[in-house]
Amino acid sequence: MKRGLLYSIAMLAALLMTFATAQAKTQFVTIGTGGITGVYYPTGGAIAKMVNKKKKEYGIRATVESTGGSVFNVNAVMNGDLEFGIVQSDRQYQAWHGLAEWKDKGPQKDLRSVFSIHPESVTLVAAVDSGIRTIKDLKGKKVNIGNPGSGQRQNAIDALTAVGIDYKKDLQAENVKASEAPGLLQDGRIDAFFYTVGHPSGAIKEATSGARKVRFVSITGPEIDKMLAKFPYYAKSVIPVEMYPGAQNDKDVPTFGVKATLVTSAKVPDEVVYAITKEVFDNFDDFKKLHPAYSTLTRESMLEGLTAPIHPGAMKYYKEAGLMK
Ligand code: GLU
Repeated sequence: MKRGLLYSIAMLAALLMTFATAQAKTQFVTIGTGGITGVYYPTGGAIAKMVNKKKKEYGIRATVESTGGSVFNVNAVMNGDLEFGIVQSDRQYQAWHGLAEWKDKGPQKDLRSVFSIHPESVTLVAAVDSGIRTIKDLKGKKVNIGNPGSGQRQNAIDALTAVGIDYKKDLQAENVKASEAPGLLQDGRIDAFFYTVGHPSGAIKEATSGARKVRFVSITGPEIDKMLAKFPYYAKSVIPVEMYPGAQNDKDVPTFGVKATLVTSAKVPDEVVYAITKEVFDNFDDFKKLHPAYSTLTRESMLEGLTAPIHPGAMKYYKEAGLMK
């Protein structure tokens, strides 16, 4: 009897030890995303889902955090608050070269690329009753250009500057998060907002399905073409209006855009970056099904639009898979 009890205690202790070691080995990694009604947030979830399926094999547990967007994510990855971040390709370029928000801090030398993901369009949404039909009509209007920390803020400023609008003087610029803009537009508190986002997105659905009628405004013209020629990271793109039946547009809307990319730090261990890369690429067809914004993705396209050097953990996988030499 006594022996039986001792045996049970010993077994329990052994079990607890095993559990504790397994726990100690788990590496927790966090992916910084954007607002929950954007595409970064579900994208972070999709990436986490792929790697968490193999938690036993890798000992990695990935979680997702909603953040202020690209600029916030670069900075949080650089100071070690986050292991991964989803970042616009233009913001990655600027951080790596020490431009825009990184002008004073200088080049972010520890920034590393993992892969790129869906295309994002600079999306200008305006209330029909505001009379805004072209980007130049934003003069004198109340416009959300985005929170500091977001990717879209600089895109909005670039587009406005290109057409001769000084956002500090010629319009009433609001600085709120993209997740709040659709509500403000519907409540009549702003006339328009910019959001650089993949399509379809929850925020744009929300903005286009309320009582106040809204339309997408194209961002085109000779001045915009000049700007696109000046910045290597911008390219023409189109917003597919069939994704938003409530929008008062009958044709797809031409604008410009960038790509969403996954970044990390040189300080994040190779095996962690390798595991995430491998699980997304090995299960590419499953991954692609996780969001309609991934419809045009190919494995090869996921290696385009990267400026910072590819993290060695990701590179190990690309070489094994024959995607890179
Ligand atoms: N492109 C936005 C940003 O960098 C985020 C878009 C999204 O969350 O889907 O802030």
